[in-house]
This record gives sequence, structure tokens and C-alpha cells, in this order.
Amino acid sequence: MSAGKLSRREAIERGILLVPAFALLPSLAKAAEACADPTDSLRSSLHYTEQYSDTTKTCSACGFFDADGDKGCGTCKIFSGPANPKGHCDSWAAKS
Ligand code: SF4
Repeated sequence: MSAGKLSRREAIERGILLVPAFALLPSLAKAAEACADPTDSLRSSLHYTEQYSDTTKTCSACGFFDADGDKGCGTCKIFSGPANPKGHCDSWAAKS
């Protein structure tokens, strides 16, 4: 077989490998979904973010966080609504 051309068998084998990769795309997009809208006025005033670089001060480590939310999100007692476990805001307080 010359370089640059695929045999029918190689094309089918590569196609079989690509199908699972495309099947994963919706779940990857889902993982990137936000738990809450950071532009909401209260969240915005407290600089809520869905992702925070200091992993020791994320929502999941905050005393106002309950991990009982939907779709991988938790619940924030300050906002009375969803919060991303990897998120953060100015009201962060360590769990006691
Ligand atoms: S109060 Fe805590 S749980 Fe709520 S958004 Fe801020 S850091 Fe996250």
C-alpha cells in the first residue's frame, strides 16, 4: 500500500475508533456546563466563579456548601441555590 492512501479495511478500522470518540463529545460538553450563572447580580457582587485556581478554597471546601445538588453541582447556603464544587466566591469560609 502506498503512503497516504488507506485500504478499505484501514478506513473501516479507523472509523470504528472514531465513533466512540464522537460519542464522548456530549458528555464532555456536559462536564463544562455551569452550575449557576456567575453574572447573576448577587453572585456577581460576591465575585462567584465556576472554577477557582486555589483548590483549597473551592466551594466544596466551604462551610456554606452542601454536596446535595443535581448534575454534579452542590448547593450554596448563601445563594440558596446551586454552586459548582470547583467554584468560589468572596463569602468563602472554611468548614468548621
Ligand atoms: S459561599 Fe461558599 S459555597 Fe457559596 S458560592 Fe461562596 S464559596 Fe461557594
